[in-house]
Amino acid sequence: MADKISVLFTEEEVNARIREMGEQISKDYEGKSLHMVGILKGATFFACELAKRITVPVTIDFMSVSSYGDATESSGVVKITKDLDEPLEGKDVLVVEDIVDTGNTLSYLLDNLQKRGSSSVRLCSLLNKPDRRIKEVDVDYTGFVIPDAFVVGYGLDYAQKYRNLPYIGIVETE
Ligand code: 5GP
Repeated sequence: MADKISVLFTEEEVNARIREMGEQISKDYEGKSLHMVGILKGATFFACELAKRITVPVTIDFMSVSSYGDATESSGVVKITKDLDEPLEGKDVLVVEDIVDTGNTLSYLLDNLQKRGSSSVRLCSLLNKPDRRIKEVDVDYTGFVIPDAFVVGYGLDYAQKYRNLPYIGIVETE
């Protein structure tokens, strides 16, 4: 049976917010180039939409991490399963993530990326669930702050489904 999904942010709302974020980031990085690091797979849709809205020169790379634990709970143990193709030396790096939940993944990842000789590392996340935070993470650019609910769409999955939804929704479980 198909899951029931209730809309949290419509396609128009998400796109409008990404446009605003792109404008803000373009202002903040004026005169510089930006190296975006998207986290597979969830951040791909967001990273591509955001990149299209940024007016300073942009390069883009992706990496993949896995967090040991079950599908909906992060365990705090993070492993890089696909590293970046390009070095970060001297670059202004913007890490692009789909959601910051407990903060376990990003706190590990930012620590790891900050040791690679970049000029700067900032974090941009489409969604932020501060109520669930276990590890403190500074999110420089947040799309939407959301309550503690499991969301899908715009790159976010439920058992690998629903990444392709053009909106963000909550899966209603019985
Ligand atoms: P954290 O390490 O911050 O707990 O979790 C980060 C990862 O957990 C995200 O990149 C995402 O893959 C997954 N995650 C956390 N909350 C949600 C959610 O509400 N929906 C989905 N689909 N994934 C989530």
